[in-house]
Amino acid sequence: MPSVAQPVDALHHGLRPTYRARGLENQSGANHCFLNVVIQALWNLQSFRKRLLQAPCHTHSHAASSYGALARPAGNDHCCYCALKSLFHEFAVSDRDVLPPDALRKALSLAYNAQGRFQSGDMEDATETIEVILGILHACSLSSSLAPSASPRAQCVHAEFIEEASRFGCHPLCLSHEVFGVEYVDVPRCTFCGATGEPTVTSAFTYGVYVTELLECREHLAGQVHSEGADSLGAMGLWQSIHLVPVTRRTLATERFLTRQPQTFLLSLAWPSSSPTREQLIQVLSMIQARLYMTEIFETSAETSVLYGLRGLVCYSGMHYVALFWCPSQRHWVLFDDTCVQEKEDWSSAARVLLSGLFVPTLVFYERVQADAALEESLEELAQQVCELEVVLVGSSLGAIAIVVVTRSQTLGTLVPLPSMDREETQTLPVQEDFLRSTRLSVDHRPTDAAEARRIREEGGFVTMGRVSGELAVSRALGDLLLKNSGLSCKPSVRAHDAKRDLALVLASDGLWDFAEEKEVAKVVVSCSRNGLDHVAHRLVQEAQRTGSMDNITCLVIFM
Ligand SMILES: [Zn+2]
Ligand SMILES: [Zn+2]
Ligand SMILES: [Zn+2]
Repeated sequence: MPSVAQPVDALHHGLRPTYRARGLENQSGANHCFLNVVIQALWNLQSFRKRLLQAPCHTHSHAASSYGALARPAGNDHCCYCALKSLFHEFAVSDRDVLPPDALRKALSLAYNAQGRFQSGDMEDATETIEVILGILHACSLSSSLAPSASPRAQCVHAEFIEEASRFGCHPLCLSHEVFGVEYVDVPRCTFCGATGEPTVTSAFTYGVYVTELLECREHLAGQVHSEGADSLGAMGLWQSIHLVPVTRRTLATERFLTRQPQTFLLSLAWPSSSPTREQLIQVLSMIQARLYMTEIFETSAETSVLYGLRGLVCYSGMHYVALFWCPSQRHWVLFDDTCVQEKEDWSSAARVLLSGLFVPTLVFYERVQADAALEESLEELAQQVCELEVVLVGSSLGAIAIVVVTRSQTLGTLVPLPSMDREETQTLPVQEDFLRSTRLSVDHRPTDAAEARRIREEGGFVTMGRVSGELAVSRALGDLLLKNSGLSCKPSVRAHDAKRDLALVLASDGLWDFAEEKEVAKVVVSCSRNGLDHVAHRLVQEAQRTGSMDNITCLVIFM
């Protein structure tokens, strides 16, 4: 049976209908910003958001009955869990652009009343706050087993109970430990004789890194690299530096084995001073990488090591916190500054904002990258890079197109911005041997296409005589910058295609397709394949020229 191509717009595949970037209130004197960045972080991490939204609601003594997982939880002034869950519910369904964190703040202040922490108007540390909130969720999961019917509000935990619960493990893992719980074993080893000492196990929600050690290691590495005459420091990341800390500084080295890989790996950066220099900030920001492999930090085998992708940062400047998070559905960074929510196109513009405000990164969030999501993300990165190519073309009236094929085991994705000023349409065409069946995979982006014409109008342009602004007969291209505000887009169409039944993929420009039927092309490819003939692309070009094509022709045939 011939396979049916399933078009998948991979770039929009990750869209979460419940996601919307919202601000959080911080009235003058309330000092909510430390809490707001923690809420934004937890909401923006899919691994946490999904689980908390689906987690069961508490049944407090005054509540008449238990509630369904997605129902609005019963309000309870004293319960941090219920306050956070209720706020997440608002995030998911509210019409408002800005939400109040006051209920969670109130619940925290009540839980820590005796300690005098989180009291109204007080400023707190964001790293301690996220650890407290995760500790509360852990304590809630243990409250029924550790303190059954101890109080009518057994599920409303207070500070002493949270402290007590932190000494107990949770089985099965609670929400906090499932998402953030990292566990590793340190084994001291003498670098001279190789003898090992007593191993120590650490279980935590955050992985602490001293920035001073990090920068020293960087210096050390820079020296090494320099003396070796190589210029590869640029390739050295933050985390390779961490890995080298024990090796370069001590004769008693510690081998650190990772025993639990969390959904979200949270690094907490400890700075030597609360106001580091701009130079130090640049050094650390430039060391933060988009990808993190656990093998870069731990002695762990590559096969079992999970890939993590950078999701966001929590930063402070003076007495103020902001959060910066990647929005996978909109494919941009979002800077959360209390009520103010700003989109940032790419990492460098986001990092520039942090630098200009001398914002110090203190929490760095990495989330597990799933296999499908990894393909999607690499296509997004590719799209981003293709868009950045335009900068090279500034000032010229030239345009170009690109067709990109990414093959991945049995999945094939194509990234096809079409076409250019030269009208070089590039089409992809797999040939299935048994049925001589061809499937066209690419889309021509034409101003005459109704959907494209609508998009052009929505982006402030117009189509006349079948051309963008009456000039360009194609609606998407790289370059042609004068038409960029007139609806000419460089966004590619992305399509995933299962090619396991396909014989070949033909990529060619309009010089070929305008003169050769898809069926004819398929026939040439199949007969070449059956008769063991090579130079297939060349034969296709000759065939098109024989039938009258005077245009330039680009053709590539990829056998699967
Ligand atoms: Zn509750
Ligand atoms: Zn737990
Ligand atoms: Zn020794």
